[in-house]
Order: sequence, then C-alpha cells, then structure tokens
Amino acid sequence: MIIVLKPQIAPEEITKFTDHLKADYEVKVNRWDGIHSTVLGLIGDTTKVDIEYIDAQEIVESVKRVQEPYKKANRKFHPENTVIRINDSVSIGDGSLHIMAGPCSVESEEQITGIAKSVQASGATLLRGGAFKPRTSPYAFQGLKAEGLDLLKTARKETGLPIVTEIMRVSHIDMFENVDIIQVGARNMQNFELLKELGKIDKPILLKRGLSATIEEWLMSAEYIMAGGNEKVMLCERGIRTYETYTRNTLDISAIPIVKSLSHLPVIVDPSHASGKSRLVEPLAMAAVAAGADGLIIEVHNDPPHAWSDGAQSLTPKQFDKVAKRVFALKNSL
Ligand code: PEP
Ligand code: MN
Repeated sequence: MIIVLKPQIAPEEITKFTDHLKADYEVKVNRWDGIHSTVLGLIGDTTKVDIEYIDAQEIVESVKRVQEPYKKANRKFHPENTVIRINDSVSIGDGSLHIMAGPCSVESEEQITGIAKSVQASGATLLRGGAFKPRTSPYAFQGLKAEGLDLLKTARKETGLPIVTEIMRVSHIDMFENVDIIQVGARNMQNFELLKELGKIDKPILLKRGLSATIEEWLMSAEYIMAGGNEKVMLCERGIRTYETYTRNTLDISAIPIVKSLSHLPVIVDPSHASGKSRLVEPLAMAAVAAGADGLIIEVHNDPPHAWSDGAQSLTPKQFDKVAKRVFALKNSL
C-alpha cells in the first residue's frame, strides 16, 4: 500500500503517523522524503488495513493499494486454474466447456424431467432449476421450495445430470446437502453470513455477480467462502445494472478475461439473466465462449409463454439445441 502525504507536514507528525501504522497493522513502513511531499510504503499483510480510514486522515493526500485485498481467490498465489470436479464426466475449469441448462423455476415433475432429458440430448452436462426463487414482487411465484428440490433430484435420477439450484438462507443449508452445486444468486452476493456458512461446507458454489457489484467486490465475496475453507467456488457473470434499458441487464463481457487473469476460479456466464430476451441468448453465449468462459448457464423452458418465471428469456428445447451446437462448434474451433 502506498500513502502519499500532503506537502509540508511536520516531521514529528509523520513519525507519529508512521509509528501508529506499524503498531496498529503490524506492517513495515518504508519512507521516501521528496522535495514536495513524503511517500510511505506499507510492507506486509495489508489486508486488514482500513484504506478509507487512512484516506480520511488530515495529513494524507492519497492512498493506493498495490496488492489486491483477496488472497485465496487471487491467481498470484495460485497460478494454476482451479478445476472443480462434479462427477466422472463433469470437471469445470479444465479447459472444456460445460452448459448448465434448465428452467428458471421447477414447476412439476413432468416439466423438469422433460426439460432435463431434452437439454441433455443437446449436450448440456448439468441441470439448473430454481426451487427457492428470489422475486422482485412478493406476490410473484416464490418457487416449489422443498418439493422443487425433490423434483430436481428425480430429474437427476432419470438423466444422471448433476443439479444446480439457488439457496436463499443459512437455515436451508442442510436441505441442500444432496444438491451438486449450490447457487448464490445475484441478490445474495453480499449476504456475508450466508457466504461464511457456505465456506464451512464441502460443496461447489456458483457465486453470481451482484447487480451492481464491482469485480473486486465479487472476488471479495468469493474470498468469504474460501476463507472458511471451501475453495470450490465458480464465479458467474450474469449482467450488471447500467443505464441501458433495452436489456434486463448489461452483460459485462470484459469481466470474463479480467476475472480469469485476476483469479484462478472458473467463470460461468449467464446470457439469459444478462439479456432478459431469448433472442439475445445465442449471440451473448457465443461472445462469452469466445471471451474465455468455462461454462454457460442458460434458461430453457418447454413452454416459455406460460413459464411461471422468466419466460421472456427462456429458450425452447429446440432453440437451445441450436445454441448448444453453435457454442460447442465455436469452442472446438478456438
Ligand atoms: C436465477 O438463476 O434464476 C436467478 C434468479 O439468477 P440471478 O441471481 O442472476 O438473478
Ligand atoms: Mn430466472
């Protein structure tokens, strides 16, 4: 961390401030006295240093971190890609492309098993489906809850596809024991109590990016899970809020190569929630694969006009088949 002090600060004030930093944060402080100002370099573990507090000090002109505040998620300390093995045929982050596909919400046994079979035939290797739904309106369908989880397990039994589904509260963790990947939705990306508890279990987590989260905030949320001991984290870019209203969100394509360089964790892209429109799913999925995504999560529904949630962005199984063929062909050509 580099701290630039304001010009003409009395030497004893600088010494007092430096002693304070050393004592409070257990860091070494290097000091360079220039003609106009003094620069301090903090050496050691600066993760606990409160950068806003330092910046607010009367004698400080500016402060800058030179090292990222996340350690476990940081590629600097873990240069190889993390590979998350789900079963014998699904390892995410190993250079192959995996598609998680399925409805926004689980609606019935017939619906989820039917969709599972068709997306599997098109090349999806994981089944998605929401049982607990975070909806903007309290009057909207909230999910089939425990019954939805059971139906996902039935679909898994019929197809062998591992299941991905969203958790919303800490008290539900036991219910998710038999789920293959637990999704933390965009709205819960900074539910730190939930993240801490998920850090204590041995299960892959799909951490969606918050609606207005910076890349660093998103990586810090991954750090929460990893700091507890669970290092099986996948990051999911699902679009962020911008001033654009044509799409539901704006897919941040640049986040893919950025996160892949900052972190060793696999990156999954959700073109469905990013766009909110089924016709945009294919071009966004192609762009995500070209930009280096390790996987895609795509909403597919047997009858989108009558879907209980997110029908406008859901592909029919036939449309999904075309998208899957195109993205796998693109992946093979890279
Ligand atoms: C979902 O996957 O259905 C969902 C609610 O996603 P997000 O958290 O990205 O909005
Ligand atoms: Mn959805």
